[in-house]
Amino acid sequence: MNVLITGGAGYIGSHTCKELARNGYLPVSYDNLVYGHDWAVKWGPLEKGDIADTARLVQIIKKYEIRAVMHFAAFAYVGESVSRPDIYYQNNLSGSLSLLNAMKETGVRQIVFSSTCATYGNPLELPIRENHPQNPINPYGFTKFVVERMIRDFGSAFGIRSVCLRYFNAAGADLDCQIGESHDPETHLIPLALAAAFDKRQALPVYGSDYPTRDGTCIRDYIHVTDLASAHVLALKALENDRFLSRAYNLGNGKGVSVQEIIASVEKITRCKVPCVYGERRDGDAAVLVADSSQSRMELGWNPVVTDIDAIIESAARWTKR
Ligand code: UDP
Repeated sequence: MNVLITGGAGYIGSHTCKELARNGYLPVSYDNLVYGHDWAVKWGPLEKGDIADTARLVQIIKKYEIRAVMHFAAFAYVGESVSRPDIYYQNNLSGSLSLLNAMKETGVRQIVFSSTCATYGNPLELPIRENHPQNPINPYGFTKFVVERMIRDFGSAFGIRSVCLRYFNAAGADLDCQIGESHDPETHLIPLALAAAFDKRQALPVYGSDYPTRDGTCIRDYIHVTDLASAHVLALKALENDRFLSRAYNLGNGKGVSVQEIIASVEKITRCKVPCVYGERRDGDAAVLVADSSQSRMELGWNPVVTDIDAIIESAARWTKR
């Protein structure tokens, strides 16, 4: 079965392609290569194109007889979305609408969508369950929230069946070191902490040390990218085997780790000091985001494997060194 992967040359998209291929699917990557890398597409063809180009999407869907879509392509920097909401609304909303229209036109009726815990906003209760109110506090989270709704509405109106996967913090790299995280510019905590450990000229900015948390820094739930990838395959299988219209699942480990604890783990694994500069809070950041993922475990049969934060960081360190 052929699956269209928008953003297949990106970080989570490429790891999911590997997992799909391992399960007998052919992942067809569709990526404009603005943030993605052609070297990351190893398990199926790469078609260069923009998701805003509905006609080209229709052509690719027909060419490969695509049966399902996994939609990763999006701008995904929380901080940038606050300073450049224009490009976030343009790319994430118009692009997703274009993709859904292409699906409608070609009769593709299954989609797995890359959503985020940023759709919840500041948590009212921890850990966060799927029925927690969605009140995003930054434009990135808001665009993902609206796309979830779009997908649901296309479901009711046109029969497009969906699973929205709300990731917490994706981290780490392929355990065989074939692919890994490579953003330009890099803004994420773990790769920047590793870069600071390996190259002392690049001090790590710590965004806020006055949060109401155990050590004053933000707490996140880090989930290994290969475990995210396996959840996508399980979601696709659920779409194939069950007859539900739309579902949403959290994907996290349920363990909160602070920025300070990430730094300590990076120092332990690399045996290098991480030079830090403590600064202001970053706009759009919630103090604590931790998942309750019991529903994805129960209903999808998801069972994350690389759950220890040191093991997650070790895989990222191996990739960075390479
Ligand atoms: N963070 C930080 N310094 C950095 C990058 C991130 O202190 O250079 C913090 C950020 O404020 C957040 C956490 O690390 O609390 C994780 O941020 P990241 O950008 O990795 O992921 P996000 O939570 O935005 O998806």
